[in-house]
Amino acid sequence: MKILLIMPHTNVKRSFFSKFSYPSLTLQQIAAITPREHAVEIVDERYETVNFNKNYDLIGISCLTYNSLRGYEISDVFRKQGVKVVFGGYHASLLPEEAKQHADSVVMGEAELTWPQLLKDLENGKLKPFYKADKLVEPELIPPARHDIGIYTYMEAIQASRGCPTGCEFCAMQKVEGPRFRGRLVDHIINEMKTIKSKVIFFADASLTISPSYSKSLFREMSSLNKKLHCFGNINVLSRDDELLRISSEAGVYKWYMGVESISQENINQAGKRTNKVENYEKAIKKIRDHGMNVVGFFMFGFDNDTPDTFRETLKAMYEWDLDEVSFSIVTPYPGTRLFERLEKEGRITSYDWSRYAEGTVNFKPKKMTEKELFEGIREVAAEFYSVKNCLKRSFNPRNRGPIKSIMTFGGNLTMRSFYKREKLQI
Ligand code: SF4
Repeated sequence: MKILLIMPHTNVKRSFFSKFSYPSLTLQQIAAITPREHAVEIVDERYETVNFNKNYDLIGISCLTYNSLRGYEISDVFRKQGVKVVFGGYHASLLPEEAKQHADSVVMGEAELTWPQLLKDLENGKLKPFYKADKLVEPELIPPARHDIGIYTYMEAIQASRGCPTGCEFCAMQKVEGPRFRGRLVDHIINEMKTIKSKVIFFADASLTISPSYSKSLFREMSSLNKKLHCFGNINVLSRDDELLRISSEAGVYKWYMGVESISQENINQAGKRTNKVENYEKAIKKIRDHGMNVVGFFMFGFDNDTPDTFRETLKAMYEWDLDEVSFSIVTPYPGTRLFERLEKEGRITSYDWSRYAEGTVNFKPKKMTEKELFEGIREVAAEFYSVKNCLKRSFNPRNRGPIKSIMTFGGNLTMRSFYKREKLQI
């Protein structure tokens, strides 16, 4: 069969900086579990355009909530032409009945145990409406993603593990990947990394600090690959493990992404991120940076204890903590999360238009500020943090040790600035 796998995207505004992101790993993973007798193409709409005039036997669409409506739009066009369409990904897994209205079949959860059977069923004219594995896939059965198809970008993604034991209120990961940490075999990951042409690799894991011993054994094998690595990790776990800091730095980790979330411990406790302790943040960030690695803090605004003053206070903390980059989001009640259930019960969800669920728009009534204050507050913080002057000041600060690292930090800042200006917040 000729199979096209699509990652939809809305309001595509491609720019020079688009190439500094990474192409959809999910599509490369689905391509990897597709038997080689089928011809597979992938289109990530952030970089490429779907050709509706080409002949395909099957379209597979993977989407999150924000791009689900675009996915349905694409699906409706292909289905009118008589082409079969299958949906998968987080949104379809959590709202399968909704996705089914636009698809011939829906894959719920991880696809490794169901996709090959779906293809056989389709060839035999016996496609089922839903496919859901009765267990999570064992990590040694996850094959290397197909990095040989799709476009070339500055950075590519890989996944070392699945699952997250934390289960934050606002995150749907546990519902799809489960609470059990499942690390792939180290040699499988190293071999996959060798197939990646990009110098920079992003680890699309919940966190590479859930099992420090696993991560250490993985990082030890990586140093000879000479790659620059970006990983998610927990700020408190990382900062108290000197060995992990040293080994990760030697492995080539250049950026740690940290889900800092909020400067209020009350907010963090309510979100159920019990691993985070705000009082330790400043010291922890300094320690990670002292090992020569950059820290990117992920913040959300709109938690129940946030007030109009939170924006300025958070900005002040971002400067004091000396963060190299920051990611900003508005708290978003994604379907399938405990946050969605709670806010729905409290009658606080104001929009079910999924195209607004890209974390730059307010879709609920905040508790201690107005929707307008939240909408404007985050834009002001992003505009100030990513003003050209501040990007320069942060990047060319002597603490960045040398011109190469300063230039790389500046590049990272400009990419983030462009993302917020262009797409997420339109600052
Ligand atoms: S936000 Fe991070 S730590 Fe929390 S459940 Fe999701 S992946 Fe796990």
